[in-house]
Amino acid sequence: MVVENKDQTEIDKFSALASRWWDPTSEFKPLHEINPIRLKWIQSHIDLRNKQVLDVGCGGGILSESMAQSGAITSGIDLSKKALNVADLHSLESQVQINYQCISAEDLANKSAETFDVITCMEMLEHVPNPQSIITACTKLAKPGAMLFFSTLNRNLKSYLMAVIGAEYVLRMLPKGTHDYAKFIKPSELAHFLRDASLEIVDLTGLHYNPILGSYSLGSNVDVNYLIAVKKPLL
Ligand code: SAH
Repeated sequence: MVVENKDQTEIDKFSALASRWWDPTSEFKPLHEINPIRLKWIQSHIDLRNKQVLDVGCGGGILSESMAQSGAITSGIDLSKKALNVADLHSLESQVQINYQCISAEDLANKSAETFDVITCMEMLEHVPNPQSIITACTKLAKPGAMLFFSTLNRNLKSYLMAVIGAEYVLRMLPKGTHDYAKFIKPSELAHFLRDASLEIVDLTGLHYNPILGSYSLGSNVDVNYLIAVKKPLL
């Protein structure tokens, strides 16, 4: 039996919240707030216009839509049907065309190898049982020379205090149980997975939340949230 690389309780968690995905004051507020910053960061590495882009673990499509609006030919995959329904409906409202599919990255990789110029996989790796398998699938889906962008949460005392205790319990920005600390990924571990997939690391940057200003910014400190840009070599 092939065991699927998904944690059903994680998928259920996102499905239960799906109707609020596009409410900028909801549990998804942080994703709405970080979106312009991460989009700009992606665009600092590659012009998205007319690129074949795949958003892995796209959820309700916050990043997917913004990439489509930037001129990308966009596809999004997720394993939460409810989130994808919301994504589909919202794309009609926004009048952007996005090809959403309920399929795992691994299954799509078996069907559509070397298809995409850009792959994004944001705030998702910390919710799957085997992040390395997602990275391997993303690598297979990418054309030679493609750019891939990942983001996740570091694993240390500070990220535990900020992302779990601070965001879920003190500031109540996220529902309790949103994040499982044990699944957080250190940049060194992610770099190891990426190098194992023969990807070249292009950029590593931190994403900071300032609780006083209630705003986010990029910076060199990768203690909590971080983003990593990699390139699939041409040969
Ligand atoms: N990437 C989006 C959404 C992040 S929320 C953004 O940053 O805006 C995490 C998403 O990962 C949820 O939509 C959840 O359903 C999805 N997810 C969790 N495990 C998954 C898996 N194994 N395969 C595909 N998607 C998964």
